Amino acid sequence: MCIFCDIIKGDIPSRTVYESDNVKAIFDIAPLTKGHTIVLAKQHVTSMLEADEDYAAAIMKETAALAKLIVAKTGADGCNILVNSHEAAGQTVDHMHFHIIPRYKGDDVVELHRMPSDDPDEVFRLITE
Ligand code: AMP
Ligand code: ZN
Repeated sequence: MCIFCDIIKGDIPSRTVYESDNVKAIFDIAPLTKGHTIVLAKQHVTSMLEADEDYAAAIMKETAALAKLIVAKTGADGCNILVNSHEAAGQTVDHMHFHIIPRYKGDDVVELHRMPSDDPDEVFRLITE
């Protein structure tokens, strides 16, 4: 059982702001800011790390278009597009979705904290070799 699949089927009510063959975009039930929307992939896939890349790109394209609309309509000053993949990254619902978080100057709702880095030469080799 997957709560987002149930929302997509309409078995759980949601405020749907946009729907297409690939996505259902709904208001987040616990919004971080005014207009916080989550764009649900209609096909169940655990996260972006498991998703077909073309499918993820198709979802991203629709998310980008919707973000422009939401920022314009809310009068936000910017937005974060956030995709949490796996528990370590803060994913709480194991069904791929993109957050659109409109940002308002001074709201401070999303902040990433920097940690001391590993040796960058070693990490560079790890990724590129
Ligand atoms: P994540 O932590 O990236 O997995 O995001 C899951 C998001 O889904 C959270 O921001 C929740 O507030 C949101 N959420 C959970 N249940 C519902 C629901 N029934 N309707 C709308 N949003 C939900
Ligand atoms: Zn699902």
